[in-house]
Amino acid sequence: MSNTPEPNPIVDPISGFLNRNAGMVAASQLLAEANSSNGVLIALWIDMDRFRQINDSFGHSGGDRVIGHIAERIRNCAPEDSNLLRVGSDEFVVLMCAQEVLGAEQIAGRILLEIEQPLMIDGILIHPSASIGLAWSRVNDDPGALLERADRAMIDAKQQGGNRFVVSGSEAVPGRLGAKLAREELAIESALHLALESGGLELHYQPIIRPDGRIEAVEALMRCTVDNAKIPPDKFIPVAEKSGLIVRLGEWSLLQGTRCAARLRDQGYATKVAINVSRLQLISTDFLQALHGALICANVPPELIELELTESLFMDISPTVQTNLHSARALGVGLAIDDFGTGFSSLASLKDIPATKLKIDRAFIKLLPGDRRTLAIVKAMAQLGRELGMIVVAEGVETLEQLVACEVAGADACQGFLHARPMPEDDLLIWMHARKQS
Ligand code: C2E
Ligand code: CA
Ligand code: CA
Repeated sequence: MSNTPEPNPIVDPISGFLNRNAGMVAASQLLAEANSSNGVLIALWIDMDRFRQINDSFGHSGGDRVIGHIAERIRNCAPEDSNLLRVGSDEFVVLMCAQEVLGAEQIAGRILLEIEQPLMIDGILIHPSASIGLAWSRVNDDPGALLERADRAMIDAKQQGGNRFVVSGSEAVPGRLGAKLAREELAIESALHLALESGGLELHYQPIIRPDGRIEAVEALMRCTVDNAKIPPDKFIPVAEKSGLIVRLGEWSLLQGTRCAARLRDQGYATKVAINVSRLQLISTDFLQALHGALICANVPPELIELELTESLFMDISPTVQTNLHSARALGVGLAIDDFGTGFSSLASLKDIPATKLKIDRAFIKLLPGDRRTLAIVKAMAQLGRELGMIVVAEGVETLEQLVACEVAGADACQGFLHARPMPEDDLLIWMHARKQS
């Protein structure tokens, strides 16, 4: 009796994917299901770039090993319930039922990023890449037609230089959302993962100053550097929000920010540290535990920590958010309403949130002192804040004239480039020491 396993007639032994014939049968079934349930079947046709070169350099056994690795990478990115086909020597198809094309574009982008990771074959580092065509089923489609559209889009992707995906039907539309934007976002997302794992994150601190020169607080602002390149917060924060990574970044901020408050206290400064918190953190029932954990780890009194609540929070204040905010407040942690006066933050939010601070958005301050109507609005906001027992802060104060106008309007403290730019923790301490001396 032989020990060699029987070859599986429907599975390609190198990739572990369905072979072409079995794949076509599966595609027919999935299409029938999609048609009967008004769903959509999406096909990603993936073709390796320059695969002949790989085969020529490493022979067929080397080529097969590359295929095995690439198949594994595709499998890691594809949704669990998708069907994976090997339809040619270096060609694969991912079939997935989807709600929307956008989600499939994200998956295509992820596959490209995963495939382009370097690969060691016979001691040589190679840089694979692929081209992907994306097509979705139409009513009463047949599998041949669907796959042909995906194949054609893939050829377009190759003609545009490879290492990209093209959505069938959009080949002629330049700059369409898909390819470029989704890939840029995915590149930022993967940079953020890298930054989290390899120490590429840092908090910079910007002081908030009272008219008498006392420091009201310092705001912790996240910085991200990957491969010596800085990614600006207005680029990475929205991507982190969209991908959900903001929860991990936010927990990291809490830990670092509370640690900084403890260090300042140890150096003789009882200065509050304000930490930005995203809506995604606050809608979680785990938030209080994360906050509590950070306070205990750093061994810092809650009164030295303030949470800045971004405007996205005010879109819906759920019972969990309410509980989290009231419990944080009960611990002694301060709550600041950030970017007040713009977007979704509104007067109604003042009633629902036990806030201790109101931060008037930079958009108003930058029109001061010239714009009299804006000055009237800033005055009214400051009065409202104060009557509700809050400390009022003007954000983005860049000139002496703005500083004077804010103080006249009733702001209790000002934050902006005029006083100081955000700086690393060590520089903040030097800055604070120097101020104390003078
Ligand atoms: P923000 O909370 O409104 O932070 C203030 C922003 O204004 C900072 O931008 C700061 O550098 C900038 N700024 C301060 N003074 C001036 C000024 O005088 N003029 C001008 N033009 N700008 C000034 P930054 O550091 O780029 O951060 C942007 C946003 O990213 C923050 O806006 C905040 O919403 C978000 N962010 C930063 N760090 C975190 C974080 O750890 N977690 C979360 N969830 N969001 C964060
Ligand atoms: Ca803030
Ligand atoms: Ca702000």
